[in-house]
Amino acid sequence: MGGRALILKRIPTVEEKSLVPRHQTEVIVVGAGLAGLTAALELMSHQVSFVLLEARDRVGGRVYSRAEDGVVVDYGAQWVSSKQPRMTELLRRFGLTTTPTHTEGRVFYELLGRRRASASGTPPLPAPSLLDVLRLRKRLRDLERRIDLQAPWKSKEAEQWDAVTLRSWLDRTMFSKYGKALYEVIAEEALCGELGEFSLLDAVWSSASCGGHDEILTAEQRWIAEGAQALPERMAAALGDSVRLNAPVRAVEWTEHSVTVRTDREAWEGKRAILAMPPTFAGRILYDPALPYLRDQLTQRAGQGAVMKFIVAFEKAFWRDAGLSGEAYMDQGPIRLTMDSSLPGRGKGVLTALATGKGARTLGLLRREERQAVVLRSLSVPFGAEALRPIAFHEKDWMSDPWSRGGYAAHIPPGVLTQLGPALLQPVGPIHWAGTETATVWRSYMEGAVQSGERAAAEVLRAIRP
Ligand SMILES: Cc1cc2nc3c(=O)[nH]c(=O)nc-3n(C[C@H](O)[C@H](O)[C@H](O)COP(=O)(O)OP(=O)(O)OC[C@H]3O[C@@H](n4cnc5c(N)ncnc54)[C@H](O)[C@@H]3O)c2cc1C
Repeated sequence: MGGRALILKRIPTVEEKSLVPRHQTEVIVVGAGLAGLTAALELMSHQVSFVLLEARDRVGGRVYSRAEDGVVVDYGAQWVSSKQPRMTELLRRFGLTTTPTHTEGRVFYELLGRRRASASGTPPLPAPSLLDVLRLRKRLRDLERRIDLQAPWKSKEAEQWDAVTLRSWLDRTMFSKYGKALYEVIAEEALCGELGEFSLLDAVWSSASCGGHDEILTAEQRWIAEGAQALPERMAAALGDSVRLNAPVRAVEWTEHSVTVRTDREAWEGKRAILAMPPTFAGRILYDPALPYLRDQLTQRAGQGAVMKFIVAFEKAFWRDAGLSGEAYMDQGPIRLTMDSSLPGRGKGVLTALATGKGARTLGLLRREERQAVVLRSLSVPFGAEALRPIAFHEKDWMSDPWSRGGYAAHIPPGVLTQLGPALLQPVGPIHWAGTETATVWRSYMEGAVQSGERAAAEVLRAIRP
C-alpha cells in the first residue's frame, strides 16, 4: 500500500484486510455530529471503551461555525429554544451562553406578491384568511395529538396520512389563498423542501415531536453566543483522543455479536456500533452481510432536504430604525426566512437568510456573484435599498457539502413510513442507528440529535451491560 489509504468501493479481500492495522474496543461510534458525540459521552460516563470515527476534519456535522473578521458566523445550526431541555442542559454543562434573538419591531410578510409588516404578532392577512389559518392550526393540533410519537406508523390514521403529501392535504384543507401561502412559506422553511416532497404523516410527526406547531415557533428564540460549533468542540475535547477525524467509514462487517468497522486506514473491532448520521449516509456504507432489505429500502428513500444559508453583515442594523425586527417570510424569490443575528453591543447589523427547497436548488446553480445579487435583491424587498450594500456576505451550500448533501434533515415521501418506518430505529444485529432523523423529540433539530444519541447509547448499554 506504500502508506496510501485504501479507498473501499467493495468489501476488501482477505489479503487487503490483513494490510490495515486492527484495533479492539467495545463500541464504535460513527459520525461526530451532536448525535454521535452525545452517544460517546454517555458510553464514557458508563466506563465503556469506544472510538468515535468522523469523516470530516472537524466535529459538529451540520453544526459548523467559523470566525470571519473576528466574529463567529454560524453556517449551520444556530438557534435553540427554552423548550429544548437537552440542549439547555448541554449548553450549561459545557459553559456556553445564549443570546436572545432580536424580535422587537414589525415582522414582514410577502405572500403572493402582497407585502405587509405586522407589529401585533398576528400575520397581516385578510380576515377570512386569518380565520382559515386559525382553523388549520386547530386541525394540525388535532392531528398532532393523535399521532404515536414513538412509532408514527402505528397511529390509527397512519395509512391515510401516509397516502398523501402535505401539499395535497393543504390544498383540500384550506380555502383561502393567503392563508395557504402563509402556511406554505412556514412549512417550506421548516422542512427544507417543497410541500409535495413529503407525506402528511412525516410532516405531522415532525411538528408533533417538537410539541406542536406553536412550540416550533419558539425554535429561533435564542442563539449560542460563542457560536454553535463551540458545543460539539467542547464535547469532543471531553472525549479526548478517542475522537478520530478524517476517518470516513467505508465498510461494516457484522455477526450477531460482533462488528468490524473499516475506514481507509484502519479496522475497528467491537461488540456494537452506533451509526450516527443521516439515513442516506448510512446507506452509502458497504455492509457484509448486506442489511435487511427493509432497512436498505428506507435509506434509498429518506433523502435530505435542500438548504442554503446566507449571513449578511451591514454597517448597522438599519432595519431596526425603520421599525422592522429583521424577521421576514417571503414566498416570492428564493429566500423563505430572514432573522436578525446582530451581535449585541457590536454596532454592526447581521441578517441571516435561508433559502430552502426549490429556491435553494436554483440558487446553488448560479455563480457566486449572481447568487449574491439575487439574495441581496430578495433582502431589499423587506428592508429596502440599504440591503443592497453589505459589508460582508457569507454563504454555505449544504447540498454540495460531501458529508451532508443537504439539510436541515431528511424528510420522507408518502408510502414510506408506513411500510419501512420501523427500520429507521430498529438495530440490525450489533448495529444501532442515531442522528436527528431517528429522534422522537424535536426531529431535525439539534435537540433531536442529542436525544437520538442518548437513545442509541442506552440500547447499547442494555446489550453489553445487561
Ligand atoms: C443550514 C442549517 C441550519 C440549521 N439550523 C438549526 C437551528 O437553528 N437549530 C437546530 O436545532 N437545528 C438546526 N439545524 C439542524 C441541525 O444542524 C441538525 O439537526 C443536527 O446538527 C444533526 O446532528 P446529527 O448528529 O444527527 O447529524 P450530523 O450533524 O449530520 O452528523 C453526522 C456526522 O456523521 C459524519 N459522517 C457521515 N458519514 C460518515 C461516514 N461514512 N464515516 C464517518 N463519518 C460520517 C458526518 O461528517 C457528520 O459529521 C440546521 C441544519 C442546517 C443544515
